[in-house]
Order: sequence, then structure tokens, then C-alpha cells
Amino acid sequence: MKIVLIGAPGSGKGTQASLIAKEFNIAHISTGEIFRENIEQQTALGLQIKEIIDNGNLCPDDLTIKLVENRLTQPDCENGYLLDGFPRNLNQAEALDKFNKPDKVINIDIPLDIIENRIIGRRSCAKCGKSFHVNFIGQAKICPDCGGELIIRKDDNPTSVHERLQVFKLRSEPVRDYYLNKNILFDVDGNCSVDKVFEQIKSVLNNDKN
Ligand code: ADP
Ligand code: ZN
Repeated sequence: MKIVLIGAPGSGKGTQASLIAKEFNIAHISTGEIFRENIEQQTALGLQIKEIIDNGNLCPDDLTIKLVENRLTQPDCENGYLLDGFPRNLNQAEALDKFNKPDKVINIDIPLDIIENRIIGRRSCAKCGKSFHVNFIGQAKICPDCGGELIIRKDDNPTSVHERLQVFKLRSEPVRDYYLNKNILFDVDGNCSVDKVFEQIKSVLNNDKN
């Protein structure tokens, strides 16, 4: 099963991706997570992209595409993959078709005006990467899942969030049309509970006739 998960920043891609990976036992590949790990460990890649990410812009295509292409050759991707955060523009979508075409693309649909609030209230675990909203966890400083420290991501500030949403509209929205034209796109309503979104995704993935 080769799945791509698309949707605006803050649409819940990361949360749903973890659930899907567990339920269907496939490798979850989040480009954002890979980049953040590199920044944390101050690798050459990390140093190159830190500022770009903090400002809410896209990392260069050539390095992002190479990174995903290599990652997909690892043994845990033998039975497929779940891509979260890639492709984020048409060039990346076309590249992916050349090296490892997806079977299904799920778009988590959500009105952009409610997203800003979601991201601003987001707290992320520095250890496992999961994110939570202050509406649910209050002022907790510890990850309910793994006990790691909860932090506010550097790019979850109003200026960067605004930039990310602009980039999304301009660069990432056309990716949905690209897959729609290939008849492999499935929209799910992202403006409901985590469980309800996951139910919709499961029904898409369990239906072989799709
Ligand atoms: P979100 O979906 O909440 O914006 P991600 O963790 O998916 O968060 O991505 C965080 C940042 O990482 C993006 O704003 C961008 O700078 C960079 N990034 C992630 N995936 C890609 C990609 N496919 N191409 C270019 N940049 C990317
Ligand atoms: Zn955690």
C-alpha cells in the first residue's frame, strides 16, 4: 500500500499518519520530522534548512526529492509507504511518480480560517514528535504519550504560520488537482474529531474497489 497524505499545515496529517501507520503497519515518512531531526542534531542538512523552516518556506526541491527517494529504498518500505508532507508542490508530485507512484492520495480537507487557531494552540513533543492542542491538554508540559517535553515548534508562531498558509495555497493546493486528474484522490472531512477523521480514512483504505 503506497499512500500519500496531503492537507494544509495543521490539518492533522501528522496525527492521522501515526494512526494509519500503526493500523496498517506501513512505514510513516514525514519530511517535516526528518528535517526537524536534522536541525536538532545540527547535521549539514539541518544547518542548511533551519532558517527556511523557521520562516515557513519550503526547503529546496532537489534536496527534498533526493531525501525521499533514498528513504523509500530502505527495507521498511518494501511493502509500501505512507508519505506525510511530501509532495508539497507539482514538481515533487511529478518526481514521485517517476520513482515510486502512490496508489491512493488522501486529502484532509479543512477550512483555512480555522487552521491558524489550531496551529497557534499546538504543542509538540520534543521526543516523539506528536502534537496536541492546548484545548485538550491545558498547560501540560509533558507528552501524554511518551513523557517527553512539550514545546512550541519554532515555526508555529503567527508570522511563520501565515507564510506557511500562503505557501500552501500557492504551491500545495495544485497537488490535489494533480491527483484528482489521475483518479486516485480521496477527500476526507478534517473538521471533526481525530476518531471521525480516522474512520473516514480507514474506509477509503479498506475499500479495494476505490
Ligand atoms: P506542517 O504540515 O504543520 O507545516 P511539516 O512538519 O509537514 O508541518 O513541515 C514543516 C516544514 O518543513 C515546512 O513548513 C517546510 O519548511 C518543510 N518541509 C516539509 N516537507 C517539505 C517538502 N516536501 N518540501 C519542502 N519543504 C518541506
Ligand atoms: Zn511524546
